[in-house]
Amino acid sequence: MPFKALGLSTELLRAVADQGYSKPTPVQCRAIPVILDGKDVLAGAQTGTGKTAGFALPLLQLLSKRSSTKGKNSIRALILTPTRELAAQVGESVASYGKYLPLKSAVIFGGVKINPQIGQLRRGVDVLVATPGRLLDHVQQRTLDLSKVEILVLDEADRMLDMGFIRDIRRILTLLPGRRQNLLFFATFSNDIKMLAENLLNSPVLIEVASRNTAPEMIEQLIHPVDRTRKRELLSFLIGSKNWRQVLVFTRTKHGANRLTSQLGQDGISAAAIHSDKSQATRTRTLAGFKHGDVRVLVATDIAARGLDIEHLPHVVNFELPSVSEDYVHRIGRTGRAEREGIAISLVCIDEREQLKDIERLLKRTIPQEIIEGYEPDPSIKAEMIPRGITNPNLRQGGVYLPGNSWSKANSPNPTAGRKRSLGKKRSQEGPKDEEPTRRRQDILRKHAIKAPRTSQGHKTSKHERLPDR
Ligand code: AMP
Repeated sequence: MPFKALGLSTELLRAVADQGYSKPTPVQCRAIPVILDGKDVLAGAQTGTGKTAGFALPLLQLLSKRSSTKGKNSIRALILTPTRELAAQVGESVASYGKYLPLKSAVIFGGVKINPQIGQLRRGVDVLVATPGRLLDHVQQRTLDLSKVEILVLDEADRMLDMGFIRDIRRILTLLPGRRQNLLFFATFSNDIKMLAENLLNSPVLIEVASRNTAPEMIEQLIHPVDRTRKRELLSFLIGSKNWRQVLVFTRTKHGANRLTSQLGQDGISAAAIHSDKSQATRTRTLAGFKHGDVRVLVATDIAARGLDIEHLPHVVNFELPSVSEDYVHRIGRTGRAEREGIAISLVCIDEREQLKDIERLLKRTIPQEIIEGYEPDPSIKAEMIPRGITNPNLRQGGVYLPGNSWSKANSPNPTAGRKRSLGKKRSQEGPKDEEPTRRRQDILRKHAIKAPRTSQGHKTSKHERLPDR
């Protein structure tokens, strides 16, 4: 089916052609006509499926065909995203798809100065892409009026819930007019999404292009079993020997990301880290450098990498497996985007056996394993507790692995392992995960005059700061 058949205007078709898209992706085929029809949508689409154009194109068309009833500082469409990086990307897409239309778009998120955003809003914005925290700051300062919103999009709504944004979302909903079109996009379905959809959507059309919790099929997945102390060596070897030029590597913690970045540098491989301790300016610069090929390896934590769209990214490496299985699907979804092939490699040591089992259970398949010559795991090495942010109850109890602790037994069925852990666990209950929720926590601490405990180095710390940067 060509784009033309979807009922898009010539201005949008021209913008799509400029992007080099030859035909719509499945989510676009299904979502665009329904949204143009004015219906609410509940769409399950993995990242990389072209979902952004799936909602942005019809949204722009609807706004351009209607007469505006805008007032001072008011906007006509609001797109909420969980992270700053995703907001920036969605904002870029909206701007390029709408470049032949007389509509203005803007992006607002925290971590950068608020005044330029206030100026932009004052000059008039039709489509606003925002993260929830900064959006509410603007509302509080009366620099933004949400009472004229015609279309609301919640992009990666599941992630917003995971990150503890539910209260912000509820508050935002109270500021919107009752009559509006709602589009809810999620990657992983959960009861929380179901509840949000029930409260928010009006007779929605359900669109699901990839089955729930499955990895995109274009991605080749492979596991290299390796000892924990030899992962860095193996990573450098793989990058060098296979001449990978652009690799996104995931670590579990910010500290791990920093350490690996400097170790790769020592191996002569240009690398940069991206995580929530880096300033927004650094994150933006780092990402641009990686996209342009100035940096060969981008080492990221889950939260920073969420929603990153890097065209034709060929390699994703899990330096450490995520402790939440769904994050594995999100991580490897960075490659194989828009129906291109990609490779997702996981370097897995004996300590991560339970995480691997959980991931395979979620995927409903076994991921092939290949031992790299010279990096064979030492069978005498015992599993150890993963020190930070661990979610495996078996490990929490004693810090010692349960029976069967060598790679030879690693994939033998263990009827009890991992049972206690619920795959659909509410991560929102684990507390704040990104800058904006953390700020809320600081407010609470301040309000109750609670001092955060100090580490031996004298730095303030907290339970959440000791958790991985997810
Ligand atoms: P998204 O899932 O929205 O993050 O999009 C993933 C990638 O697919 C982005 O790099 C888009 O530019 C690209 N894309 C979106 N629609 C199409 C299309 N119809 N054909 C080819 N690429 C597309």
